[in-house]
Amino acid sequence: MDFTANYDMFLTEEHEMLRQTVRQFAEREVQPFIRDWDREGAKDESDMAHVRPVLKRMGELGLLGICIPERYGGAGMDYLSLAIVCEELERIDTFLRVVISVHTGLNSLAIFQWGSDEQKQKYLVPQAQGVKLAGYCLTEPNAGTDVAGMQSTARREGDYYILNGEKTWISLADVADHFLVVAYTDRSKERRGMTAFIVERTFEGVETHAIHGKLGVRAGNTGSVVFNNVRVPVANRLGEEGEGFKIAMSALDNGRYTVAAGATGLIQAALEASIRYAKERETFGQPIAQHQLVKRMVSHMVRKLDTSRLLVYRAGWMKNQGRRNSRETTLAKWHATVSSFEAADDAIQVHGAYGFSDEYPVERMLRNARGAVIYEGTRELQELLQADFAFGFRENNLLRRELPAYDPAEWSE
Ligand SMILES: Cc1cc2nc3c(=O)[nH]c(=O)nc-3n(C[C@H](O)[C@H](O)[C@H](O)COP(=O)(O)OP(=O)(O)OC[C@H]3O[C@@H](n4cnc5c(N)ncnc54)[C@H](O)[C@@H]3O)c2cc1C
Repeated sequence: MDFTANYDMFLTEEHEMLRQTVRQFAEREVQPFIRDWDREGAKDESDMAHVRPVLKRMGELGLLGICIPERYGGAGMDYLSLAIVCEELERIDTFLRVVISVHTGLNSLAIFQWGSDEQKQKYLVPQAQGVKLAGYCLTEPNAGTDVAGMQSTARREGDYYILNGEKTWISLADVADHFLVVAYTDRSKERRGMTAFIVERTFEGVETHAIHGKLGVRAGNTGSVVFNNVRVPVANRLGEEGEGFKIAMSALDNGRYTVAAGATGLIQAALEASIRYAKERETFGQPIAQHQLVKRMVSHMVRKLDTSRLLVYRAGWMKNQGRRNSRETTLAKWHATVSSFEAADDAIQVHGAYGFSDEYPVERMLRNARGAVIYEGTRELQELLQADFAFGFRENNLLRRELPAYDPAEWSE
């Protein structure tokens, strides 16, 4: 069964062609190797020899700048295309989708929304072309959900800011060329005292260290980024002083969308693996697909897949229109990530003991799905946000800036 059929209220033939291209890439160039990469990553996170060639191919296919206008080096497609890329990549492995989340969702789209023309030319163009890779540095050892608890500071000195601090749990820490970093320029103003910067890995005083012993996303790199008196030119300030929190939050509206789309792809992978296995494995003289309790697990996966996909495509459609979408995006992120973890858990159950080993991909899905229930806003944060929207305590996109509405003519200029 084609689980991506009947979404033509949202999708076009172009989207379908994109899906086939991404699927072919991920199935041919990643799937045969992913179990080994995941095992090797578990041994040594800093040994990411496989990552660069894969990212180079993603760049060549235009996936790293899929929804960035052509004039900024991108493929000029819409925001629904971004979701399709994420679905298809995470159908094979989460580390591929994480690259899109941080490079495109959290970093490139923030420069597209908030950057000056010079910044777009200097940073967005090579990122969208896939020549340079980008990361996003918000979390600190003592500040995750509570962003205002961060300790990093940037002090203005003439034409530079002197940046100090430590960011942790940063995806692509050892691999990215550019980082979007948020730090306090005036702590007394709390959220309104934060400022965002584009920092290059090669700036003196930038150090990165891999995190070892992760539960999942082992084929990808996560680490700490430390700033020791880093001189950041004023020209690298993104937006105005004091806009850092807004920029970080509007970036999360885009990052969370990619996470939700990726989680949808993972649910599909869990479902497909379960269907394949349940039709082959026999107990009590018949394939386990005939047992009602196995059917129930599969039917729950189907429900989770379709509801997640619909929520993601609604958010993508709203982004295409330039409409406010924080509520819809956070709902999609919450629902799809929690559903993907549950789907992977049921997929292991369908596989019995075999699901407990890496002979089958479902145990990797479970480990990978767990992270998304934490990053880019924990499950609890999403729950609080939805309640606040419902009670009217929070306006949709109160502080944020919308992505520019998708315009096919302008995007392909
Ligand atoms: C694989 C991975 C990749 C990541 N990549 C990046 C990245 O590229 N860039 C980046 O900046 N960060 C990244 N992160 C960090 C991630 O965004 C944070 O871990 C996340 O925001 C949660 O912060 P925390 O871990 O400090 O948890 P805490 O904020 O300490 O929360 C701990 C627990 O308390 C709960 N909690 C906290 N406050 C409340 C509240 N008010 N009400 C109810 N419950 C609450 C949380 O939901 C959670 O269950 C990544 C994390 C992981 C695991």
